Amino acid sequence: MSENCIFCKIVDKQIPASVVYEDDELLCFKDINPSAPVHLLLIPKVHLASLADAGAEHADLLGKMMVRVPQIARDNGLHAGFKTQINTGRGGGQEVFHLHVHVLGTPAPGLD
Ligand code: 5GP
Ligand code: ZN
Repeated sequence: MSENCIFCKIVDKQIPASVVYEDDELLCFKDINPSAPVHLLLIPKVHLASLADAGAEHADLLGKMMVRVPQIARDNGLHAGFKTQINTGRGGGQEVFHLHVHVLGTPAPGLD
């Protein structure tokens, strides 16, 4: 846990969040200021400031995050597809320096 990191505080339940998925390593919750009908943030529970701070030792964790995204998207009604975004660094528009994947979309009925 990193002091003064708002997402670490959410992991630690010091700050409430609307959690939609949790396992030993990952947490996913609703963005407090959504820019789409569904706007989720998927984070590692361990503090990692940004994608630019990831090393080879984080490869498994990053892989787990990516393969979890489609399931979380489906579970939140995004059957027709979704967008993912990772802002990295000030120049990349990152405001919260705890790695997070934005998952955005509009719920649609299943196509199958
Ligand atoms: P960034 O620009 O760093 O990629 O995005 C940070 C995101 O975190 C923004 O979309 C913002 O609305 C969201 N956010 C910031 N503070 C909080 C918070 O305390 N709770 C939740 N759920 N989302 C937050
Ligand atoms: Zn953190």
